[in-house]
Amino acid sequence: MELVEKIIEKNNEKEQLLSLSIFIKVLKEVLSPSIDFNNDEETNSFINKVSKNPQLLLTKQSMNELKEITKNRITSDRKILQNKTDDIVKLSSLMERYFDKTILESSNSSEKIHKIKDELQELNISNASQRELGQLQKRLIDTIYNIEHSMEDRREELNNNKEKFLNLHKTIESLQEELNLVKKEKATDYLTSVLNRRAYQEEVEKIEKKYEIFNSSYAIVFYDIDHFKKINDTYGHSCGDEVLKTFGKVLDKLTRKEDTIARYGGEEFIALVNYDKEKELYKYIKRVKSLIESTEFKYEDITINLKFSAGVSFRSKYKNYLETKKKADSLLYKAKKEGRNKIVFDNGIEL
Ligand code: GH3
Ligand code: MG
Ligand code: MG
Repeated sequence: MELVEKIIEKNNEKEQLLSLSIFIKVLKEVLSPSIDFNNDEETNSFINKVSKNPQLLLTKQSMNELKEITKNRITSDRKILQNKTDDIVKLSSLMERYFDKTILESSNSSEKIHKIKDELQELNISNASQRELGQLQKRLIDTIYNIEHSMEDRREELNNNKEKFLNLHKTIESLQEELNLVKKEKATDYLTSVLNRRAYQEEVEKIEKKYEIFNSSYAIVFYDIDHFKKINDTYGHSCGDEVLKTFGKVLDKLTRKEDTIARYGGEEFIALVNYDKEKELYKYIKRVKSLIESTEFKYEDITINLKFSAGVSFRSKYKNYLETKKKADSLLYKAKKEGRNKIVFDNGIEL
């Protein structure tokens, strides 16, 4: 405005006109385009009007008009800037929530995603920034659709793989169960369900390793039923089988998990018994003796009272396992020879 006043001060009309047209050009550059494109129309019509007749600029009315245009433009541009900022904040927060739901949450959150997408679509982009932000909004929605489609494909693929994996896992599990069963069947004696000779041999290797590495004490107990042949001969082989079964059960029940009880052959059983103090071993053997003596072996209407003999040797007294076992065997033979129903230890103790 001061500039216009300065132009008015100029006396020469030609100079005045020249200055005015330069001023109008500058005015055009400064005023348009506006951030709010609605202002452009008003500005352009004013510029056109004064371009045609620059002298008009010198009138009070035009001056006021120019002042009004400038004021409007500042207020509306300021408002638009505010709206744009708000819209960007709204969009970015929605986008953030959308990506949180779709990418970070692997579970089926499609309901939440749809809600956000709807919100995004319904987002009231202020009229002023419709031009730029509207396009941005459209692009974002397109992108979301694309992401969602590709995510659905991946989800389907994942679910298929998960199913395949679960089936495979089930097959492996049932095979494992079968394998365990076969292993157990292979290791147990068909009649008495205690370990068989082959599985016993594996236990020998384990306990020998333990003995070598930790010097852990163990003893070998050889059991043999007294006059078993007589049972077979008197009551039949099936009755003998039943007696063997029960004898095996009693031994199995009284032998601890960390120890080993196996059928060595016929009516002979063998035990590997870990101990810290020798008295643990005596306690174990006494319990076996007392339970066998108190058990009534039943077959149909027959009741049999069983006796057994045993030989016991302590591993620490011998060079190796075989010598220890041989000793237990010979002590069993001694017990038989000395009248049966006897347990002979390699330290001279007899029960
Ligand atoms: P001892 O007191 O000297 O040990 O005499 P015993 O009769 O118990 O011993 P012997 O070795 O003379 O006889 C063992 C018998 O056990 C012979 C065999 O037929 C029988 N026997 C071996 N295995 C089985 C089996 O699985 N079932 C049955 N019923 N009998 C068996
Ligand atoms: Mg016997
Ligand atoms: Mg025998």
